[in-house]
Amino acid sequence: YQVFLAPFINNDQKLTGVLSVFHDITTIQENYERQVDFVSNASHELATPLTSIQGFTETLLDGALEDPELSYKFVDIIHTEAQRMNRLIKDLLLLAKLDSAEYRSQVKKEPLSLYEILNSVKYKLSPQFQAKNQTFLLLPINTDLTLHANYDWILQVIINLGENAIKYTPNDGEIILNAWEEDRTIYISIKDNGIGIAASHLPFIFERFYRVDKARSRNAGGSGLGLSLVRFIVEILGGKIDVTSEVNKGTTFILSFRK
Ligand code: ADP
Repeated sequence: YQVFLAPFINNDQKLTGVLSVFHDITTIQENYERQVDFVSNASHELATPLTSIQGFTETLLDGALEDPELSYKFVDIIHTEAQRMNRLIKDLLLLAKLDSAEYRSQVKKEPLSLYEILNSVKYKLSPQFQAKNQTFLLLPINTDLTLHANYDWILQVIINLGENAIKYTPNDGEIILNAWEEDRTIYISIKDNGIGIAASHLPFIFERFYRVDKARSRNAGGSGLGLSLVRFIVEILGGKIDVTSEVNKGTTFILSFRK
């Protein structure tokens, strides 16, 4: 609590009373701490690839450049790390934009064909699932299904979920994308038969920078912000996201939007 005290003193300079105001600052304090946490996490995430870029550049300058094979290997690492930083910065900028009420109110919403969106997601993700020899199945969905939303946002949401499904599913695995309408609600589901998420981690996966396995996420090029962005956007659009998962069996994310 923050406490304000104001004494009441009469004409004879006698204390006649005290006004006390107790201000509950728990939420302010919590928000502040969350902000500090966020900045420290973001800085750490940016520093990790940068340190690696710096290290490999110095090694190259110190003589490794003479060895073409080694040079190639190091430059490849530098390139990957720079891509990771780029992705993280993009995600951070999007989060900052979404935090602004003004930006959110200006975003255009329109009726979108889910058939078109899901086909476009599959097309955009094809290099990634083909590289892992995975099956990416888009179930035959009703071509009339429409969702009132913002095109870029909903595309980003489904692409993020699709990228995760690919990342966290071994080679030759299977990912199934589906959409349907039931009781005036539009559902979109993404199901994989990958590594799954243990029940103890499940409640936290939508938190910013939370990862079940830091090393695996980093190696796969994750920023740790993907699912927090997904949930943020879905909630702004008035929808809901649910997840069920079983370790070594797979994970299913279901988005739902009431009409
Ligand atoms: P990241 O950039 O690390 O993928 P996300 O916010 O997208 O960050 O996801 C948070 C964590 O949730 C991941 O690090 C991973 O441990 C877990 N996760 C997300 N999607 C899946 C999935 N389809 N299968 C298994 N684990 C997943």
